[in-house]
Parts: sequence; C-alpha cells; structure tokens
Amino acid sequence: MDRARLQHLLDRETAEAARRGPRSRDAYGRAEHLFGRVPMTWMNKTAGPFPRYLATARGARVTDIDGQEYIDFCLGDTGAMAGHSPRVVAEAVQRRFADLGGATAMLPTEDAEWVGAELTRRFGLARWSFSLTATDANRWAIRLARAVTGRPKILVNAYSYHGSVDESLVVVGPDGAGAPRPGNVGAPCDVTLTSRVAEFNDLDRLERELAHGDVAAVLMEPALTNIGIVLPEPGYLAGVRELTRAHGTLLINDETHTFSAGPGGCTAAWGLEPDLLTIGKAIGGGVPAGAYGLSADLASRLLGRADLDLVDMGGVGGTLAGNALSVAATRATLEHVLTDAAFTHMTALSERFESGVRAAVGTHALPWSVTRLGARTEYRFADPAPRTGAESAAAADTALEDFLHLYLANRGILLTPFHNMALMCPDTTARDVDTHTAVFGEALAELTA
Ligand code: PMP
Repeated sequence: MDRARLQHLLDRETAEAARRGPRSRDAYGRAEHLFGRVPMTWMNKTAGPFPRYLATARGARVTDIDGQEYIDFCLGDTGAMAGHSPRVVAEAVQRRFADLGGATAMLPTEDAEWVGAELTRRFGLARWSFSLTATDANRWAIRLARAVTGRPKILVNAYSYHGSVDESLVVVGPDGAGAPRPGNVGAPCDVTLTSRVAEFNDLDRLERELAHGDVAAVLMEPALTNIGIVLPEPGYLAGVRELTRAHGTLLINDETHTFSAGPGGCTAAWGLEPDLLTIGKAIGGGVPAGAYGLSADLASRLLGRADLDLVDMGGVGGTLAGNALSVAATRATLEHVLTDAAFTHMTALSERFESGVRAAVGTHALPWSVTRLGARTEYRFADPAPRTGAESAAAADTALEDFLHLYLANRGILLTPFHNMALMCPDTTARDVDTHTAVFGEALAELTA
C-alpha cells in the first residue's frame, strides 16, 4: 500500500465530504449543548469532518439534511436491519401509541406472549423477558447466571462487544493474563475481579479459565461481529458447549448481530444449545427493544428461589422494559418484516455483495479477506481471515477504512462506522448491491493505480 497515495486520496475525499455537507457542518457547529456536539458521543465516529445529519429514511435509503441520498448498508448498525420505518411497524406504532393509546402503563399486553412464542420458535429458548437494549439484556442475563450458579465471574472473548457491560471490557494482556480493554471509561473495579477472558477459537485457554470453577457464565457471540467478523472454526462451538457443561458454567449466546445468520440467528442455523440468549436492536424494527431467553429448567430454578427479588429491587428489569409500544413494534417486525422469506432474500443479496467485493479485491491483488454471516458481509485488511479478536484488532487500518467509507459516502453509499461492514435489509435490491460493487471497484482502482 502506497501510504502517501492513500493520504492524498483521503484528503481529497475529506474535502469533498465537507463540500457536500454545508448544512450538516453548520448544524454540528451550532450543537454547543451536546456532550461532544452529538446526541451520543459515538456519533463522532464518522469518516469525515463532521457527522451527516439525518433528514429521512425509508427501507434501504437514507437522506441527509443536505439533500444527499444514500443506499444504506449501515442500517443503524443492525438497529434497522428490518429496513428503516417499515410501513407495517409504523402502523403498529400508530395503532398502539395514537389509536389505542398507552406506550408504557406498567401493564402487560397480549402481544408479549405472541412475541415470546415466536422467539421460542426461532431460537428454541422456552421463556422470555424484555429489555430496551441489548446491553441491558446482557446485564440481566449475567445477574441471573450469577444468582443461579452462585459464582462471581463472567468469561467473554477478547475484543468481543456486548454493549457497555462492565464485565465484558476485558482483553488478553501482553503477559497472557486478563487486562482492561484499552480506553475503558470509569471501570468500577479491576475487571479481573469480575471477569475471565479467552481468545475466540481458543478452547485450551477456555478450559484453563473454566477450571478455576468460579465462572457463572460464558457470554459470547457465536461469531465475533464487532472486530470484523471472526467465524468459529469447526468444532469450536461444540467444544465451548461441552466445556461449559463440564464445568457447571452457563452459556449465554448474544445474537444481537449474529441474528443476520438467519431467522433464529446462529443458534438455529448451527443447532446451538445455549442456556440463555440475548438480543436487541433489530427486533423492534427501529423502536428500542431487547429480549433475553432462558431454558425452561433455568427459568423454573430462578422462579423457585424465594431469596431472589425478581419483582422489585433485585436488579433485573427496567420501568420501560416490555412496554406496550416496543412489544407491539417487535411483534410487527417479527410477524411481517424479518420473516423467514426475508432472510432468504437478504442472504442471497449478501452473497452477491460478497462476490462483488471478493472479485474487486482479487482484481487488485490486495491481501484482504472477506467474511459473510448470512445477511452481513465484512472485509478485513488481512489475509487469511483473522481467527481471533486480537488478530482481527491488529489488522485495523484507520486511514484506509476512512478513505473507503468516505469514497463510498461521497458517491451515495453508507457502510457501518467502526467496520467495513454491510448489512442487507428486506428492501435492499440487487441493483443497490451492484452499485456498491462498481463504486468499490473504482475506489480500489484509484488506491492501487
Ligand atoms: N451485543 C452485541 C453483539 C452488539 O453488537 C451490541 C452493540 N453493537 C450490543 C450487544 C449492545 O447493543 P445496545 O448498544 O443497543 O445496547
């Protein structure tokens, strides 16, 4: 890679992004009452001089306040995997919120049992409870796992992401021991007091860590998706299940992103048998919603424990969790939008996206790898594809990533910030994918000219 050429192209695309976004630039400049000038600090993670401000979004299309239209492969980093504002979800929201009234009344609605039954059909877990975010689903699953096992620690894979869950911000340090994830903000205590860590695909390490007998649960994605996609090697997930069972440790599958693998995520696609499963983002069709599922046995063990306050102040739940509005939106999304048929369409398009990227990378002989998980494709600046989180983290190249994001955005295509990741929604078309393939090919041609 010619770094001087890359820098020149990045500067050119940055200037072009600034030129294309005068209104966004002004709005950002005026946002003096926001911490970091944005509603949420991670919105500053944008390739370019300022974030684009949202005007409208429908299906696989987004427009910004400067009137630019984009094919959206970011899809709210999975929150809009159902497409932006699907009509049927909008109607369900309208019905619940405006026609019937009552978004949050501390009373159950009948939609919740429908959603619970559908989640059981898809993922296999027998009992369900709701949250508003995947982070909270993970937090509450962890608390339940600690309560039922009486053990203090949680094990996660290095460079996984499970939301702002204190226990999960741990990596394997240079000396091989657990260490805080660099940059972690305000940890409540030394993370090694609460957590153990293993690299993804490393069963030997997992076995050594579980042998301490103090791990309540392994919290993991069946494939890492937040440090590039890192797929499980043959036998790895079966090994995880065998080891967790052997050591009396519960297994929590976080399917928030791996839901892209199919209607029942990796759990159904690969026949996995977790004790708990967490999910958020996509299931509400854009309305905040999350959920966690438990095996029937685990649920009855927990409900039988008179010492656990599962109803009031015990630390599991939130006032707005399971509210009528988010449950109505989740029902509409699962019943009508992210259906089995939709996944077939999305996966076929993702295959098309993958072949396009693979062909362009091949044409320009770049040492990159392309990985796909159902409806989600990601490329990484390393070949062969990284097999652990640490290897994938080492393949990061911010300037190169920023150049590609900006080149695409300046030509009407959005990828997910933090990733070279593209997700398909039910409204994505083959033409959208082919547009990406063409523009991506032009970017690589300029890069390697
Ligand atoms: N789990 C996984 C696998 C995620 O990717 C994320 C967010 N990227 C979360 C949990 C947290 O989701 P949220 O920020 O919506 O709580």
